[in-house]
Amino acid sequence: MATAKSSKSPPSSIRAGKREVSVSNPGKILYPETGFTKGEAVQYYLAIAPVLLPHLKHRPLTLKRYPNGVDQPFFYEKMCPSHRPDWVATTRMTTTNREIDFCMVEDAATLVWVANLASLELHTLLSRAPDLDRPTFMVFDHDPGDGADMLDCIRVALRFRDMLEQLGLKSFAKTSGGKGLHLYVPLNTPVTFDETKVFSRAVAQVLEKEDAAHVTTNMRKDLRKGKVFVDWSQNDRHKTTVCVYSLRARTRPTVSTPVEWEELERAVKKKDASGLAFETADVLKRVKKKGDLFEPVLKVKQKLPRMG
Ligand code: ATP
Ligand code: MN
Repeated sequence: MATAKSSKSPPSSIRAGKREVSVSNPGKILYPETGFTKGEAVQYYLAIAPVLLPHLKHRPLTLKRYPNGVDQPFFYEKMCPSHRPDWVATTRMTTTNREIDFCMVEDAATLVWVANLASLELHTLLSRAPDLDRPTFMVFDHDPGDGADMLDCIRVALRFRDMLEQLGLKSFAKTSGGKGLHLYVPLNTPVTFDETKVFSRAVAQVLEKEDAAHVTTNMRKDLRKGKVFVDWSQNDRHKTTVCVYSLRARTRPTVSTPVEWEELERAVKKKDASGLAFETADVLKRVKKKGDLFEPVLKVKQKLPRMG
């Protein structure tokens, strides 16, 4: 248990690819419960960069910053800070009432710069610049309602996988690093948000209909009790999902981590999902052993089947 909240430490600079990036106050504790520091967050992001960067590449990023640690106020930042170095890439997105220049993490140096802003969580759009109207995947967030847990999310996700498989679609799962699971369906083919929205709602509602005791697609918290809320509405031009391999700002430095379907099946068999909460060191070890289990989300090309 760490005691000092912000042990002052001199700034340091870190080599990231071709650049030296300065890191201010690396000794600052951002996760008081474990003593995990800003410097450790930067080191984690540098170490995971080879598998993380392809998932961030060309993707508009929303920063979620925790300047004084995970138990203190945070803020979202969509507009890339104006004090950014000139080597940080941005992309402009026009929304109904304004233009946003999003940061994009194109290299390890930018990753370190972002981590130095205490943007512990990396939230990305479903599209990639310059084609911001085309989602490259669909995502289905699985949130356990009161009285439900990770194991319930896993059971639902496995059913969802089978249903999608019958429609000819492969899907992949990751932990959110928080309470639930995220199921991804790679597309990487020309498709619009209008199409993914109609499709994702339809399949989520079929899942709900077939297993109403365990699944709801209704956002209302009181209707989630004991069930898993399957949120298809993330499939939207403006919405973000936490990027795979991102740290989470929870009490411990957990990470949104890809998991194999077999691991999820084993958890259901054992009725124990406790092995599916991963922190930074676990994730680095897994990647060494298993590589990037989420690589297919970038590579597999799938078309939405015709509805009807
Ligand atoms: P958990 O498993 O604990 O639910 P999660 O990442 O799925 O973790 P949610 O609250 O379900 O968290 O939100 C899903 C996604 O929606 C987040 O990963 C985040 O990218 C985005 N999101 C949620 N709330 C906001 C918000 N207020 N502003 C911007 N994006 C948000
Ligand atoms: Mn969620």
